[in-house]
Amino acid sequence: MYDVAIIGGGPAGLASAYNLERTGQKVVLLEEAGRLGGRAKTVNVHGEPVNMGAMFVYAGTASHELAAELGINLEPFEPTTFGIHVNGETVVSTDNDDLVERLPLTEESRNGLRAFIDRATSEYYANTVNGQLRPATPGFGEESAQSRISDLPQEVQEILTAAIRGGSVAHPSELSATYALRYFASYLVKEKKNRVVSIMGMEAIPTALADALQSTEVHLNHRVETIHQDDEGQWNLQIAIESEGGAGRSLTARHVIMAIPAPRISTMVKLPDWKTAALDAVQTPGSTELGVVVDISAPELAAVDDWSFIATAGRAFDVVINPRPGRKDGTAQFVCYGNSAGYIEEANDPTSGVLEHWIEEFLKVAPQLRGRILGASIQSWQHCFSLLTPTRASALPQLQAPVDGTLHFAGDYSSETAGTHGAYSEAHRVSREILLALSTSTY
Ligand SMILES: Cc1cc2nc3c(=O)[nH]c(=O)nc-3n(C[C@H](O)[C@H](O)[C@H](O)COP(=O)(O)OP(=O)(O)OC[C@H]3O[C@@H](n4cnc5c(N)ncnc54)[C@H](O)[C@@H]3O)c2cc1C
Repeated sequence: MYDVAIIGGGPAGLASAYNLERTGQKVVLLEEAGRLGGRAKTVNVHGEPVNMGAMFVYAGTASHELAAELGINLEPFEPTTFGIHVNGETVVSTDNDDLVERLPLTEESRNGLRAFIDRATSEYYANTVNGQLRPATPGFGEESAQSRISDLPQEVQEILTAAIRGGSVAHPSELSATYALRYFASYLVKEKKNRVVSIMGMEAIPTALADALQSTEVHLNHRVETIHQDDEGQWNLQIAIESEGGAGRSLTARHVIMAIPAPRISTMVKLPDWKTAALDAVQTPGSTELGVVVDISAPELAAVDDWSFIATAGRAFDVVINPRPGRKDGTAQFVCYGNSAGYIEEANDPTSGVLEHWIEEFLKVAPQLRGRILGASIQSWQHCFSLLTPTRASALPQLQAPVDGTLHFAGDYSSETAGTHGAYSEAHRVSREILLALSTSTY
């Protein structure tokens, strides 16, 4: 019998364990994969940590505070350029007017794009302070990002859709203009210091949390299949153990935390209708990412070091991001975000050929890097990011509310923001909720 069973060893689950065991609770954490960290996944590519899931720590958020508390080595993301790949050509510049001028577009398209960039830039400065949306800025205005671009020439719409989708995951029609354009414009204005990167990769934060655990029992390869409440109100978890050919095990706990992507929850437990309806309001689309490490030591490739964000119209992915521009050590890494590509199950099979296809797509964006790729990795996610839709925003109270006071819900899906910062904030919230319940319980 445990005080708390945590399902999921991603940011929300690990931070919950970290908080709860320090108050003396008997905690068990069950993770279906053979590793911890969830969507904060960093892989080693040619000796470099490359993020295949979460990339940025946002300044001043719960993930930033936690990273500082855990002594994670951070540096600000400091872009100096903006880039666009369209009609088979890539243009990167420090100056947006110069960029637009050099793009292989018609005069009409160039004028439309220039006007859009000017408006997005001035709105960014009007709506943000130190990179954060002003508190008075409505998070979800009536106007969608799509409504801002639908009058523009088709080739410009394709560029902007890729740029917005690459930064915000959702299609512009699903995003408020305020939210989507603030993200997009942050790259246009080369926003500095608001995004921070962990030098050892984003997984370093959950890894440090796991290393700090002392009494929590952590079980990898343990997939929780179902949970149900017994007559005494305790939760019984049925678990399949992957490393033992799916052999079963069960355990009981007073409290359970569902720290897994929202779409998986309803399949595991019978919930009241209000909770099922709230979970149905969460959209967590899939996404595919390619990470490459390249040799740019040749003098003619020096400019590639400064590439930071390139919107890629007409490619398998939407944007290419270099999280550490200007490193000047002869190598660079690029992560290609395929949010519009969605979940491509076979991409996770190394023999499928998807990796090779995506590398070719990357080389269409950067033909000068042919023969310079030192290593690459691809990852496809079935559930990438819990979108900040108005529907989810209005379901938040029901998403966060426990069932029967003992079944708790914490993850990016139940947070006000999404992202790892949302997951870490939610871990704090449910930990307090559980401690309060345990301190007043009659057990
Ligand atoms: C491509 C991409 C880019 C992103 N970029 C950023 C970014 O720049 N900054 C940022 O802050 N966030 C970013 N995110 C989002 C961030 O990764 C997530 O919001 C965060 O990881 C959510 O944490 P979580 O603990 O709620 O869920 P997860 O990280 O998904 O962890 C859930 C864990 O539960 C496990 N699990 C699932 N089902 C079961 C089961 N039945 N039994 C046992 N275990 C189970 C999973 O294996 C997983 O380890 C990005 C995500 C992706 C995919």
